Amino acid sequence: AATVISALTLAKPPRLVPVILERWRYDVTIGEDLLRHAGILLAPVLPQKRVVVVTDSTVATLHLPRLLAGLAEGAIRAETIVVPPGEGSKTMAEYERVTNALLDMGVERGTTVIALGGGVVGDLAGFAAATTLRGLPFVQIPTTLLSQVDSSVGGKTGINTPFGKNLLGAFHQPLAVLVDTTTLASLPAREVRAGYAEIVKSGLIGDAALFEWCEANGQAVLDGDADIRAEAVRQACAFKAHVVGDDEREEKKSDGRALLNLGHTFGHALEAELGYDGRLLHGEAVSIGLRLAFLASVRMGFCDRTDLNRVTAHLERLGMPARISDVGETFSADRLIAHMQRDKKMRDGRLSFVLVRGIGQAFTCRDVPDAVVRDILLAEGC
Ligand code: NAD
Ligand code: MG
Repeated sequence: AATVISALTLAKPPRLVPVILERWRYDVTIGEDLLRHAGILLAPVLPQKRVVVVTDSTVATLHLPRLLAGLAEGAIRAETIVVPPGEGSKTMAEYERVTNALLDMGVERGTTVIALGGGVVGDLAGFAAATTLRGLPFVQIPTTLLSQVDSSVGGKTGINTPFGKNLLGAFHQPLAVLVDTTTLASLPAREVRAGYAEIVKSGLIGDAALFEWCEANGQAVLDGDADIRAEAVRQACAFKAHVVGDDEREEKKSDGRALLNLGHTFGHALEAELGYDGRLLHGEAVSIGLRLAFLASVRMGFCDRTDLNRVTAHLERLGMPARISDVGETFSADRLIAHMQRDKKMRDGRLSFVLVRGIGQAFTCRDVPDAVVRDILLAEGC
C-alpha cells in the first residue's frame, strides 16, 4: 500500500519515522506547523478526498481551524465530529454517538477518519474507524505529548467498559501519523510532564542512549524547546515503531510489545484505585511505576542499585512524581495488589511484571512473589 507521504513541500524538513509491519507501513511525520499543511501532506495517502475529523471540544477550539484550513488547501472535503474532552468519552455511549454520526454523514469505504487530539480521541476515533463499515481508513494527528510519543503509534484502539479500561478494542493501523509539535504550546505543563514519563520509559526499556539523552535534554523538553521536543518525539516513536514492528499484536509470550508496560503494573494499580478522576494522570502513575519497577528489580537481585538511583534522581530533578507519597493520597497495599491481580497482564493466574537488568535492559518476569511487591508498597508508606 502506498502509505508513505511526501513532506518535501515544507520549508523546514520534518523528521520521519517509518513504521514497518508485516502487511502495512506508514510514516510518523514530526515537525512544526503540519496542521497548516495537512492537505498537501495527506492528499497522497487518502483513498478519497473526503475525511471526517473527530476531535474533542478543547482541541477543536485551539487547533481545528488550522487543520480545516490545511485540508481545504489540499481540496479535501472535511466534516467534523466533536466529543467532550477527557477519559469519560471512551465509553460505549460516545462510541455509539460517533459511529451514528459517521453513518449519518453517509461515509463510504474510502472516507478517512482523522483523530485530532490526545489519546482519548485517538483511541475512540480509531475504534470507530476500525469497526464502521468493517474498517475505514484512519489518520492520527496527536496533540498531547503522550499521544505523540505513545498512543498514536502501534495501532491499538479502544474504549473502556464498567469491567475495566480498554477492554473493547481493535488493532487498526493508521495510513499516516502527523505530529505537529506546535500544538504542544497550548498543552498544560502537567500534561507535558505526564507524556515525558513515556519517553523516559522507552529509554529505560531498551535504549540506554535515549535515557542518557533525557538526562541531558529532559528539562528542555519540559520547557518547550521546539527542536528538542521534536527530537524527543522522534526517538520515542522510533523506539515504539521498532518494538511494534517486531510484535504487532502483542502475541509474544515474553519481551516484545509487553515490555512497553514497564512501570505500568504499579502505575495501573494506583490509577485504578483513584478511579481515573484526574487526581493522578496516567503518565504520572507511570513515572512512579518506573521507579518502583527498578526498586523491585534491585530487591530481586536483577539490577544494580546505582541504576535505581540514577532513575530516581532524573525523575526528581525534573519534578516528576517518583514516590507513592508524591500522589498525596493514602493507599492500602492489599487493595493495590488486588488491582494488580485483576490487571489483564495476569497470565495463567500469575502476576507478570516487566523488570530490568539495568537501564535499557527490560525483560518480562513471571516469578515476582507477592511478598516482594507488598514489602515495596509498605516501604512506600502504604
Ligand atoms: P487526553 O486525550 O484526555 O488529553 C488530555 C487533555 O488535554 C484533554 O483534556 C484534552 O482535551 C487536552 N488537550 C489535548 N491536546 C491539547 C493541546 N494541544 N492543548 C491543550 N489541551 C489539549 O489524554 P492523553 O494523555 O493524550 O491520552 C490518554 C489516553 O490514551 C488514555 O485513555 C489511554 O488509555 C490512552 N492510551 C492509548 C494507547 C494506545 O496504544 N492506544 C497508549 C497509551 C495511552
Ligand atoms: Mg502508558
